[in-house]
Amino acid sequence: MKQAGCDVAVVGAGAAGIAAAVAAAEAGLGVVLLERYGFVGGLASSAMVGTVCGLYYRSEGGPRYAVRGFARAFAEGLAAASETAPVAGKDGLYFLPYAVEAFHQEACAWLQRHRVQLRLHSSVAGVECHGRRIACLQVHGADGVFRLHPQVVVDCSGEALVSRLAGAACLPGSQPQADAFVFRVAGLPEVPESALTLVLLRALRRGVAQGRLKPICERLSLVPGSQVRDSALLKLGLPGVGDRTRAELTARAFCHDIVRYLRGSDVALAGLRIAAMAPQLGVRSGPRPRGLAVLDEASVLAAAKPEDGVACGAWPVEHWSAGRRPTMRCFAMDDHYLIPAPALVSRDFDNLFFAGRGFSATEMAMASARVIGTCLGTGYAAGDLAAARLQRGDWRAGIETVRRRQVVG
Ligand SMILES: Cc1cc2nc3c(=O)[nH]c(=O)nc-3n(C[C@H](O)[C@H](O)[C@H](O)COP(=O)(O)OP(=O)(O)OC[C@H]3O[C@@H](n4cnc5c(N)ncnc54)[C@H](O)[C@@H]3O)c2cc1C
Repeated sequence: MKQAGCDVAVVGAGAAGIAAAVAAAEAGLGVVLLERYGFVGGLASSAMVGTVCGLYYRSEGGPRYAVRGFARAFAEGLAAASETAPVAGKDGLYFLPYAVEAFHQEACAWLQRHRVQLRLHSSVAGVECHGRRIACLQVHGADGVFRLHPQVVVDCSGEALVSRLAGAACLPGSQPQADAFVFRVAGLPEVPESALTLVLLRALRRGVAQGRLKPICERLSLVPGSQVRDSALLKLGLPGVGDRTRAELTARAFCHDIVRYLRGSDVALAGLRIAAMAPQLGVRSGPRPRGLAVLDEASVLAAAKPEDGVACGAWPVEHWSAGRRPTMRCFAMDDHYLIPAPALVSRDFDNLFFAGRGFSATEMAMASARVIGTCLGTGYAAGDLAAARLQRGDWRAGIETVRRRQVVG
């Protein structure tokens, strides 16, 4: 079997993994970024979520960046490549619409500039541990199985993959969030977003009332800021069910049913057609690994700023149950909370770090910290802490540098 070594292995090339890889490479380390799919971006690509949240303060005074450093630079590049600007949502919230292809371009440009070795079609399938050390990752690549021996691992799989494969216990979860399936339609009337939402809602209600659509179809909503001429992203909320294959197939079938019905329901929608479907169902909740600290909802809502805080969270606790709308719990306007470094460090392994939607947080805290803007921040912080662990023997030695870059700089 082929063997290879590296300083830092990052598992998963979603928003968090891209940021972690850039941070570790900036520190001068040799980084391998492993991604099971043939593209980068994680859910930002595969679920076509369409907007980056968590970049700006909730404010009455217009959009103002809450994140700094890499997250902000990435967002600026993404906005330029997507030709978009922040959009105002409800309750003083702002978010950045983006084009999926622009996300790919921006991410790959950062990875190339920092000489990160990106390995697509490379799925981590096993882990070997020596005591409290992750010694080896077994990777199924396009050219066969190989063993990667990293000094340090940053798990950005969104699924606590490395901890689980290593047999470590994850945090308990009892309030998982609903899934959603996103697709792009074309042939919409070119009217303002609010008017379009009304047209769609009314038609869907009628369809459900007449028994021509399943009640679940009322959980369809327009992704805010996604309207481009006659096209827009639509998002269908689905209860998270155990069987993923069934969920994927059912979601697609519902989207076809909805579009077929809408076409015949209103002359304004007669030209409606599906332009693109997300490669996969958007799964919001996943297992979370256990770190040296656990971020909880109370700290998020109190906008807590611990001294070892290394990444900024600026999005409310947005919990999607089965309904069409999420419950939102906000902290004060123009404020943010900080994610403590120990929540990104494994409790069970000395050379394992994590970030993104899979770090050490309660399910409700993660309902805030999982947004892409925050994933960029936790990813960068985890990459920096991993570099400090390797270069200076202790991840704590990296806290000050990360804080300068992302918090106080
Ligand atoms: C329906 C939906 C709507 C959302 N809407 C928004 C929104 O509007 N704005 C917002 O900011 N956020 C939104 N989010 C949340 C946000 O998209 C995600 O939480 C965020 O993108 C997670 O990034 P990540 O890097 O932590 O994980 P992911 O994006 O999940 O990336 C993990 C990566 O790891 C890879 N991976 C997994 N297992 C392996 C393996 N064994 N080997 C190699 N690679 C592996 C995956 O393929 C993936 O690329 C939404 C999420 C969903 C599901």
